[in-house]
Order: sequence, then structure tokens, then C-alpha cells
Amino acid sequence: MSIVRALLNLFYPPRCIFCDSLLDVENAAAGDAGRAGKAAAGWEELLCRRCAAGLPWFQSRCPRCAHLLEAKDAACSFCRGVKYAFEACTALGSYQGGLRKALHRFKYYGQKSLAGPLGTLLHSKISRQPRFSAVQFLVPVPLHRQRLAQRGYNQAALLAGAVGKKLGLPVREVLKRVKETQSQTGLNKKQRRENLQGAFRCCRAFPPGSRLLLIDDVLTSGATAQEASLILKKAGAGEVSVAVLARV
Ligand SMILES: [Zn+2]
Ligand SMILES: [Zn+2]
Repeated sequence: MSIVRALLNLFYPPRCIFCDSLLDVENAAAGDAGRAGKAAAGWEELLCRRCAAGLPWFQSRCPRCAHLLEAKDAACSFCRGVKYAFEACTALGSYQGGLRKALHRFKYYGQKSLAGPLGTLLHSKISRQPRFSAVQFLVPVPLHRQRLAQRGYNQAALLAGAVGKKLGLPVREVLKRVKETQSQTGLNKKQRRENLQGAFRCCRAFPPGSRLLLIDDVLTSGATAQEASLILKKAGAGEVSVAVLARV
């Protein structure tokens, strides 16, 4: 550990980004990294052991929609019979516990600085999966300008910036949200799809066959990712994958 880092740790002791408990960075780094350590290099500087262990790093998820599967290779009950415009989807974890709390602080309580650590964790998840290795650039899901004015920032764009930096890939904010959509809460899958129709526009065409990674904070029904992917494909994208922090 460098002297600068040691001094920083003394005055600003690192805390878990999920539960805010003090981290025992030195012990975690020196000791057994455990299952979580193998999953995400650097997790010990971001998460306490309990929160790291609580993330379902090794639980099987559907490769198409990131829904949790009952067993590896089990059929996905969520997207059976559904045709998505995106090819693959991954999620850091489920929308619950510490991840949900951190996401709320990031999205609703102005803690923009969480983009870095959350992006680091999402990057570790993406980079472990070869199916994302051909991605050429990242596209964040946009907010409508009224929502952007209220919140002051687009959490998906901040996250895409952090993940893009780690991956060494550019971020292109090519999608615009042109329709102010009503809240998706309480709507069923079909209503969510209808609500999102015509919500996005793409302000740039892509070279044919471009491979994009769409970034958002949460995926619930998949309606947002679906509509955004359709628009990106119309603009020339060959392949769209999706990465989110949390899967509901
Ligand atoms: Zn914690
Ligand atoms: Zn699925």
C-alpha cells in the first residue's frame, strides 16, 4: 500500500458502497479473497465481505434477459417466446439488498460519485463474459430532457462513462428520449411496451454491423431495452447487448 493511500485511508477510511460499514481493506487484500474475490478484482476496496458475498456472482442468469435461473442451463421462464431486439443481457445483481440501496442513492439522492465504484463492479461482470468482448462502443439509455433537468444528471450516462473508461471503449450518447413516458410502475409487460413506443430517436447512423452495449441502471420488463435496441438497429447497429446494474 502506498503512503498516500495509507494516509487517505487514515483520514477517510474506506466504506462499503452498499452498506456504508467501514472496510478492512488491508485484511481483505491480504487474506482469503474467497468466492467474491475471484469474481471481481478490486471488490475489497468497494464492498465489505458480507455485501460481496451477498451479490449473486455465480448464480445462473438467462443470457438473453439476465433473469435468475433456477439451475444452470434451465429454460428461462421470463423470456420464453419473446423476441428481443438485443442479443444478450447481463446484470451485476438482483434489485434487492445493498445493491438496491446503493442504486437509490446513486439515482435519487444525488450521489453521482457512486458511478465510479458501481461502474467498476459492472465492468468486472462484463469483462468476465467473452460474449461482450466484441463490443465497439457504449450507448447509455437517455432521460427525457424534463427528467434530466429535474435530476441534474443521467445516471445511465455516468455509469456508461465509468464502464467505458474501464473497458477502454468510447461512449456515444446517440439516443434521445423524445417522448415523456408515464411511470412504468404498475403496468404489465404489454402496457410497458406500448408506453415506450416512439420514446426514443437515434441521432446518428452506425457503420453496418456495429456492435453496441446499451447501458442502463435497472432492467424490469425489458421494454426500455427492447425499444432502444429496435431504434439502434434501425440506425444500422448489427448487434446490441445490454448491461444493467440490477435486474428486477
Ligand atoms: Zn457492505
Ligand atoms: Zn430470459
